[in-house]
Amino acid sequence: MILGIPKGLLYYKYHLFINAFFEALDVEFITSKDTDKEILDLGVKYAVDDACLPIKVFHGHVASLRGKCDSILVPRFMSVSKGEYICPKFCGLPEMIKYSIPNLPTILTEQISSLNEKQLYNFVKKIGKRVGCKNHKMENAFFTAIEAQKNFGLGNTCKNNKYKIALLGHPYNVYDSYLNMNIINKLNKDGICVITEERIDNSIVNEEIKDLFKRPFWNFARNSYGFASYAQENNLVDGIIYLSSFACGIDSIVIELIKDKVKDIPILVLKIDEQTGEAGFDTRIEAFLDMLERRCS
Ligand code: SF4
Repeated sequence: MILGIPKGLLYYKYHLFINAFFEALDVEFITSKDTDKEILDLGVKYAVDDACLPIKVFHGHVASLRGKCDSILVPRFMSVSKGEYICPKFCGLPEMIKYSIPNLPTILTEQISSLNEKQLYNFVKKIGKRVGCKNHKMENAFFTAIEAQKNFGLGNTCKNNKYKIALLGHPYNVYDSYLNMNIINKLNKDGICVITEERIDNSIVNEEIKDLFKRPFWNFARNSYGFASYAQENNLVDGIIYLSSFACGIDSIVIELIKDKVKDIPILVLKIDEQTGEAGFDTRIEAFLDMLERRCS
């Protein structure tokens, strides 16, 4: 049996874990190719019109796997940590996929209620069983995968850089270089160091969100806000770029929370959808960098 893994949504954040787990189990798997125009067009064709861009792109990745594998992995993410939830689109993703894309092989899905080790192990055990793996191999594969995931994150090695910029947003916007038009490379080429939320530990995020009136309900909001707040208080960056999916409800709230908190650092919000043109995108980045230059000189 060949398992298909769509390279979309949280695959960007957890690919080291996912790949290491199935490799350790000797499961034959393929991933979809990197996002490109063909994937995007497939996603736009099959996803409902009002879905955000990352959800459309995920549909494209799934559709591109048809005919290449016997089963496609689409986890049902309910929450990634206790008391915090994830966008409802993740909860209904297996159904969205199943009823939007014709001629799919089996959709392999199990629920993830939290990413703590116990819950995550329960999830992978169920998935492992469904792809025919024996229980005794699972624990070893799981801890190998946990170790692999520790290497995730940008190096954040800022040596002799002109400026430091915090790149915020959902991981699938920050790490999918097609969706974000290769923003990390563009900034690096301009001598800018890019820092992402992985730079700081979860315990720091927990401290930073304490000054909010209410603990954020959404995990993504919590991470972005916590990192932005820490970056301001510790003079970590010269500017913030927030990559936002058009029509994302969570973004509309967290961006306002960040703007309210971070008064001393310039913020550029770049909205992305399938109509976003690279020329306009680049112009906005250039204008932001010019402004930083004037501000810092
Ligand atoms: S959090 Fe926003 S960008 Fe992410 S899937 Fe939900 S609506 Fe889309």
